[in-house]
Amino acid sequence: MAEKYKIITFGCQMNENDSEKISGMLAEMGYLESEDTDQCDVIVINTCSVRGNADDKFFGALGQLKQLKQTKPEAVICVCGCMMQQEVFRREIKEKYRFVDIIFGTHNITEFPELLNRYKASRKKLESVLEDTPDIPENVPVKRAFKHKAYVSIAFGCDNFCSYCIVPYTRGREKSRRPEDILKEVRCLAEDGCKEIMLLGQNVNSYDKGLDDKISFAELLGKVSDIAGIERVRFMTSHPKDLSDELIDVIAERDNICNSIHLPVQSGSDRILRLMNRHYTREHYISLVNKIRDRIPGVAISTDIIVGFPTETDEDFADTLDLVRKCAYDSAFTFIFSPRTGTKAALMEELPDEVIKPRFQALVDTLQEIIVSKSQIYADTIQEVIADGRSRSNDMMMSGRTKSNKLVNFSGDCSIGDTVNVRITEAKPYYLLGEMLHD
Ligand code: SF4
Repeated sequence: MAEKYKIITFGCQMNENDSEKISGMLAEMGYLESEDTDQCDVIVINTCSVRGNADDKFFGALGQLKQLKQTKPEAVICVCGCMMQQEVFRREIKEKYRFVDIIFGTHNITEFPELLNRYKASRKKLESVLEDTPDIPENVPVKRAFKHKAYVSIAFGCDNFCSYCIVPYTRGREKSRRPEDILKEVRCLAEDGCKEIMLLGQNVNSYDKGLDDKISFAELLGKVSDIAGIERVRFMTSHPKDLSDELIDVIAERDNICNSIHLPVQSGSDRILRLMNRHYTREHYISLVNKIRDRIPGVAISTDIIVGFPTETDEDFADTLDLVRKCAYDSAFTFIFSPRTGTKAALMEELPDEVIKPRFQALVDTLQEIIVSKSQIYADTIQEVIADGRSRSNDMMMSGRTKSNKLVNFSGDCSIGDTVNVRITEAKPYYLLGEMLHD
């Protein structure tokens, strides 16, 4: 009987894409995926170190595997991902979680099958973590979560060194995948029935680092959108300092490049933006948002905001609220500052909770008011939606996304991956309700 595996993934889309590759390698080795942890012979936890609560969730999940290892000692417990790039976490695992069998890092996931085979032959614990690598492995098997939509990584690592962020240390220097390899992957996906592509990179706008033949991200995006069968192209994430007019033009011109842009601002205060090492001002950011809204009709703009960065004053925070109102975001991810060991901001004095919490609540309330009011523009409209599956909140309904990335729960008879028209009957703050139109 085939052995079974489970992968538990924390963190961003890059991690999800890495987990799809680990899943592809395990499937190629003959393993079957299972949701039932107790039945599994191999369990992989793919970690994230971007925020403190991701560390806590990881250690909680890892602790639960101790019992499994006691009742089933032959099960292989593996840990990989961003946390494993940091010596401090590897040491903690080796000291306190001795049941972990294999540790590997973000730069050598393709070594995993060999590590697993070596471990099974010797039953000796293995650790393999590289500081960085210039190579980008191609032709890695990928077992994707969906057939109709896929992540495609275009660049790895980051050179920006925002003062609060651990990514440049865990993912290494920025390097770009060759355009011909990216386009080949997208063509294969399209031939296999995939209609929606999400291009991934820590900063897609600085794509082409390390390539011999220069090509801008806007050009690459245009070439991806030209591939027959691709109905939607999305991308993530855009650094505001590198977003070009050329990119805005290509989004405006191409119908199948989605009119949604995630543009993390982090703070509305110039002083805090300097301390964060973000390399743009609030004025630049606001004029960029205005330019995007002028040139791309119906565009949805989302953002990330950190509250309580060290030294943030009431005036700095008021600047953030003011920017949020001026930019009128369609959605936002809000975070309380979380010091990451090894970053510059971690050396700064943290603000007390009693200062941060009311600011955080004020930000959430302001965003909620804006997002609720902006959602109303969808009421009574007809939206093109690609169905992703059953709604999580009501399994009698289907769920999918508009081109502007708005979640829609809708009634009607269709299959996962179908592109359907939905009449929006009600606009809730964070999703839309609707009914599918039949021709
Ligand atoms: S751009 Fe800044 S926040 Fe984004 S991954 Fe790079 S260092 Fe981190």
